[in-house]
Amino acid sequence: MSFRFTGTRRPRSPYRRVGFAGIDSPFNENPLVFQRSQLHMPSIFSKIIAREIPARILYEDDQVIAFLDINPIAPGHTLVVPKHEEPNLLASSEEDMIAVIRAVRLVAPAILKAVGAEGFTTTSATGAVSGQSVFHTHIHIIPRFPNDGHLSWQPTTMSAEALDEVSAKIKNYL
Ligand code: 5GP
Repeated sequence: MSFRFTGTRRPRSPYRRVGFAGIDSPFNENPLVFQRSQLHMPSIFSKIIAREIPARILYEDDQVIAFLDINPIAPGHTLVVPKHEEPNLLASSEEDMIAVIRAVRLVAPAILKAVGAEGFTTTSATGAVSGQSVFHTHIHIIPRFPNDGHLSWQPTTMSAEALDEVSAKIKNYL
């Protein structure tokens, strides 16, 4: 049996006029700072904040929560997350990002002592292209050990002219 719509109007899509991160849409002025749809589902991190799913919570205050990453790159790998859900650090408020950095500075030394690490890397992916998989702002704290081989960026060389050009282009937008 085939379905036929018999109403007088087509049902409106809840996606109308709403842009989505990472998808090229005329409604996305900046695809990284997108408007939430009415169908927005809480992120996995909001579910942790609401205690709907378990996590190894290390620290919590009014604005921020920090918990162990479930698939750690190294022992003590921690995520520091603003409780107010936004998709990335451009969308989160300045106040929330200050609170996140304050929590990073509080929690990181404890992690280092606990796991005997000599240092740590903080990283935060913005956009799927950068590897972001959870679209709720977060900063990773990844404890580092000598010769651990993690996160080895590959530097390139760029001519002085090319550096000047990209610098001028960026400043144009500031
Ligand atoms: P991203 O890929 O967005 O930079 O980082 C997301 C991180 O969240 C990943 O490192 C992933 O292991 C972690 N993660 C995803 N789901 C869960 C979860 O349910 N619990 C915890 N504790 N971490 C999670």
